[in-house]
Amino acid sequence: MPKICETCNVNKASIVRPKTRKLICLDCFYTVFEEEIHYTIVSNQLFKPGEKVAIAASGGKDSTVLAHVMTTLNKRYNYGLDLFLLSVDEGIKGYRDDSLETVKKNQQTYQLPLKIVSYKDLYGWTMDEIVKEIGLTNNCTFCGVFRRQALDRGAMLIGADKLVTGHNADDIAETVLMNLLRGDFFRLGKCVGIVTGKDGVIPRCKPFKYTYEKEIVLYAYHKKLDYFSTECIYSPNAFRGHARELIKDLEQVRPSAIVDIIHSAEQIDVGVKVKIPVKQTCTVCGYMSSNKVCKACVLLEGLNKGKAKLAIGKGKGEKSKNNADEKLPVNDDTGAKPVQLGKLEF
Ligand code: SF4
Ligand code: ZN
Ligand code: ZN
Repeated sequence: MPKICETCNVNKASIVRPKTRKLICLDCFYTVFEEEIHYTIVSNQLFKPGEKVAIAASGGKDSTVLAHVMTTLNKRYNYGLDLFLLSVDEGIKGYRDDSLETVKKNQQTYQLPLKIVSYKDLYGWTMDEIVKEIGLTNNCTFCGVFRRQALDRGAMLIGADKLVTGHNADDIAETVLMNLLRGDFFRLGKCVGIVTGKDGVIPRCKPFKYTYEKEIVLYAYHKKLDYFSTECIYSPNAFRGHARELIKDLEQVRPSAIVDIIHSAEQIDVGVKVKIPVKQTCTVCGYMSSNKVCKACVLLEGLNKGKAKLAIGKGKGEKSKNNADEKLPVNDDTGAKPVQLGKLEF
């Protein structure tokens, strides 16, 4: 006898829903998946009608599903948002060049304007060139710092009010664990915020904060969305990889573990002893920074002088030397005002 969907009690069940382990048909799965994200958006008042929202698009599953769901919900519920795709080209041959092709296909599918900003134009270096210079140690530190700024600069270029990223519940739970294991209380308190960078120019929102990675993959697969699934060739898969494995193991025995970790971290009060860095303006590029010179400028100066390793050491308060933190760069700097950096003017 066919198993029946436990949500509608009518249709044949097609899958077991990862978040609840309940049998569900595809129609009900699509509905609960989209409605939960809509609920997250509305209950956290992520957007206001008329806002320009840049969707950080890498061509991977998270950002592809994000573009699809944001477009769908924007139409269905009349959010009144002006949506854009924003991509960063790190200059990694055989990885980013291919994934950007997927973003271009998505641009056609969803009929959204696309802006691509590149490390080469912004900083004068591609990641391929940086890795040639510094090797495969610390490459993700450079990449994380540069990407954060590049996204802010791209969002400023298109006049965006908000930037949305595809960080999902698994990513956030991993980051909570990593910060806990590093004893990084300041970031532990901050990393579960659904909106970050409110003190900067472009707030960043995470509509997938409570969305499980497995459900994103199922949604993309059954909806036949076009996404790019190869990992970066320079990924060292270090500390985050261990946190990821731990989360996956916990999820096996207790599916709610992912969202429980997030809820626990939301309740953590970092206390008064943590020194919150005062925001100031980078004396080199004018970007908002926690120090006199922003991290991107410190790293760039090291690269240009052939002293990249020394520049890494200057990262005050940096706990991890190679954080591989593609999802949640640990850098705190946020954009502040128009500057000139590299060849692009903002
Ligand atoms: Fe950049 Fe991510 Fe590749 Fe590291 S793994 S070099 S952060 S794209
Ligand atoms: Zn159903
Ligand atoms: Zn700077």
